[in-house]
Amino acid sequence: DTDLPSLPNSLEARDRRSLVHGLTDLARHLEIGPKIIESGRGVWVSDGEGRTYLEGMSGLWCISLGYGQERLIAACEAQMRKLAYYHLTNHKGHPAPIELAEKLLEIAPVPMSHVWFANSGSESADCAARLCWYYWNAVGQPQKRKFLAHDRAYHGNTIAAASLTGTSYAHEGFNLPLDGFLHVATPHYLTGAQPDETEEQFVARLLAELEARILAEGPETIAAFFTEPVMAAGGVIVPPEGYFDGLQRLLNKHDILLVADEVVTAFGRTGEMFGTTRMGLEPDLIVLAKGLTSAYIPMSALMMNARIFDAISAYSGRLGIFGLTMTYSGHPVAAAVAREAIALYEELAIPERTKALEPVLLGGLRDRLGGHPNVGDIRGTGLLAGVQLVARRDPLTLFDASARFGPRVAALAEDNGLIVRAIGDTIAICPPLVIDEAEIAQLVDRLARAIEAAA
Ligand code: PLP
Repeated sequence: DTDLPSLPNSLEARDRRSLVHGLTDLARHLEIGPKIIESGRGVWVSDGEGRTYLEGMSGLWCISLGYGQERLIAACEAQMRKLAYYHLTNHKGHPAPIELAEKLLEIAPVPMSHVWFANSGSESADCAARLCWYYWNAVGQPQKRKFLAHDRAYHGNTIAAASLTGTSYAHEGFNLPLDGFLHVATPHYLTGAQPDETEEQFVARLLAELEARILAEGPETIAAFFTEPVMAAGGVIVPPEGYFDGLQRLLNKHDILLVADEVVTAFGRTGEMFGTTRMGLEPDLIVLAKGLTSAYIPMSALMMNARIFDAISAYSGRLGIFGLTMTYSGHPVAAAVAREAIALYEELAIPERTKALEPVLLGGLRDRLGGHPNVGDIRGTGLLAGVQLVARRDPLTLFDASARFGPRVAALAEDNGLIVRAIGDTIAICPPLVIDEAEIAQLVDRLARAIEAAA
């Protein structure tokens, strides 16, 4: 078995000769090659050697309805037969994106006016930034050009989206972030609090620092604040009570738009249809992708409120055209799959189900791992959880990055038949929302055994 990757015609060898992988050490990849996943069913995936894994990360936080959903497959096929492609430029339209946009506006967590479509979360976040610029030009405040985001935020990988992203791997070597894309402290009490600071004091300090930053930059120069309701790729960070209330107050006070990046949190993940509802946000724009189609086909969306839409439509009338478009914006096949995915989220009562399973997952992790000396924090909301691994719990001592404890735990979990992701020393857990209680128990057990073995 262990010799397989070196066989010249194995998939592993062909992969190394032909593919560039993202979020991967490319030099190391040339040595070790990939693990090839060949098929999936429910919450399980199988590799080429007949081993099955519980997909504890929904791939990349996306295949929310799990594998093998026949209705999504049927919706895709039926739409391909009827109208495989059409576009939305030059006053053309077609049924599927109209029906999807209407449905999104119906279920939107705050009143929204119109929907714009693209293909990936990055594109929608990127174009949300451009749309903010367009909006401020439309209302005669072209100097409002800067963006604020958290320093552990992830908003994607195109140029503006990667500039909004705070993590260094999106910037280093790529000449990013662009000027005017500014980052502020992530509201993570465990790693960000000063000694003896209560959670309340921590929130108050972060908000005071944020307001000082806004005033130093000049509120009249700031276009928008981007935030995920729960920061996923930054390490599953649920802001403390009061943080988003205070943030929203500051943005209203200084007339700064709020963009909610719901690429991971929408469609039931947090126990509400939208994370915006769970966290009490009032965004002007909402970015959607991933769960929108349950990852069966690429699609993303940008919902905007009437303030934005009314201004940009009047402005485009003055300019003669609204230039923001892509060949596949509103692709009929993707739109048909998304519409069916939303029907499934509703019929299966996925948000309610997720809310009921939250204590099963978080409680299970806490019962089994809460007392472990290398577990510093178990956090999450809905079926999105993070287990923070630490060198010592008391006094709290984080691992040195060189310990690579998180990656070791993730590798051991994989040996136990569980795929999770190590984000530094946080183990991220984001299973398909169709997971059942017995499968959650297996997830907890396999992860706990990995942590125990790594310690
Ligand atoms: N926004 C968030 C919150 C994400 O987690 C991601 C991807 O992980 C993106 C945006 C980018 O989406 P995509 O990878 O589809 O471009």
